Amino acid sequence: MTKQIVVVGGGYGGISLVRRLEALGLGDDVTLIDRNASHTVLTEIHQVAAGAERPETYQIPFAGMGSFHFVQAEVTGLEPAATAGASPAGYLATTAGPVSYDLLVFAVGGVDADYGVPGVREHALTLHSLTGALTIRDRLAELPAGTPVLIAGGGFTGVELAAELGERYGGGENITLVEGAPAILPGLPRRLQRRARRRLGALGVNVLTGEFIARVEGDAAAAPHGGMAHFADGSALPFGLLVWACGVRANPLIARLGIPVDRAGRAIVGPNLETPLPGVYVIGDAAAGAPPTAQAASQQGGALALHLAARAAGRTAPVRPVRLLGALVALGHGYGAGVVTGLPLTGWVPALIKRANVARWFRTAGGWAMALRYFLGLAPGARRLARPTPGRG
Ligand SMILES: Cc1cc2nc3c(=O)[nH]c(=O)nc-3n(C[C@H](O)[C@H](O)[C@H](O)COP(=O)(O)OP(=O)(O)OC[C@H]3O[C@@H](n4cnc5c(N)ncnc54)[C@H](O)[C@@H]3O)c2cc1C
Repeated sequence: MTKQIVVVGGGYGGISLVRRLEALGLGDDVTLIDRNASHTVLTEIHQVAAGAERPETYQIPFAGMGSFHFVQAEVTGLEPAATAGASPAGYLATTAGPVSYDLLVFAVGGVDADYGVPGVREHALTLHSLTGALTIRDRLAELPAGTPVLIAGGGFTGVELAAELGERYGGGENITLVEGAPAILPGLPRRLQRRARRRLGALGVNVLTGEFIARVEGDAAAAPHGGMAHFADGSALPFGLLVWACGVRANPLIARLGIPVDRAGRAIVGPNLETPLPGVYVIGDAAAGAPPTAQAASQQGGALALHLAARAAGRTAPVRPVRLLGALVALGHGYGAGVVTGLPLTGWVPALIKRANVARWFRTAGGWAMALRYFLGLAPGARRLARPTPGRG
């Protein structure tokens, strides 16, 4: 009897998983559930937030993507069968009705962590979805020229957004990046951290390191979305827009469904990415054990497909552990920094490698034609948008 494999979440982990299951001939037995109609190429949405690219460039519709079944719905509940070995093994509650499963994978990603800093939820925007990127873009467009824009978090997301904003608005704008650690881009070699900081400076971005935001206050009089960021040392900075990009927590859905989690809300999984609930797996940002990156999530998806195909056929196959090949950060258009197979790089070469990686991802999700169109800048809406004129309010 065939096993119904249900995958919740069509991000990097989920898409890698269902595409590999299809390649193994199991597409008909797979159902993908996502609350959105399209996959978002999340690693590039800082360009949408900055108004440099159109959102459709980074969306790939699930319908017609492959031979798997697609259900657009929000998953809200999980009910495993009362007896072990039952078929189906349980039901998911979704906004489109119940969905039964034999093997179940959650690839529902993460949300921005506010670490309980007062005022962040109320007064900051986050860049963790296309909706978030569009909100930032629209709020930026409303701000009078010169209004201070504050980006909290000097990791990859914050740095990529700051560089993109610097490139588009630099000089005429007041963009500050704040990082609590002594250097931006933790994890990269110090030489690359320094070069990235210099590049941000050249793009007109002020970089503050070793500064923790302890509290955020709104001030509707300063600007419609403005306020004041108060630092741990007692100083403060006003902002017209605050973007919070200080780290990732797992999607709270995992804990809500009763799956055992760690302190960051990530599912506790074994070496094969299975949770203590038999037949229920979690991958990507929602699981403990691997860094919250697209690279790790997509490797886990591909590796888990082999394990699930074996399990569905009554065999066993261990899941290959994640092996990170490097890390690349975009520092504006056509310029990047990072480490590739141990080699530190800055300039146009890492930018080109990053573009090739994104094109490869388009191939995985949407096929060769889509990948080629993206790489050559021919995708619908892929033309970079004109730089806005100063005083855009
Ligand atoms: C701006 C930005 C830049 C980044 N840059 C890089 C980079 O350069 N390199 C890198 O390796 N990583 C990067 N990352 C991190 C990377 O995007 C994530 O680690 C990766 O997306 C995690 O993959 P995932 O499959 O776990 O979840 P996601 O890709 O987040 O996908 C989760 C999916 O689950 C769906 N979903 C969530 N909840 C539900 C629900 N209740 N019901 C139904 N569907 C649901 C969502 O709609 C979404 O499609 C970046 C992240 C951001 C935000």
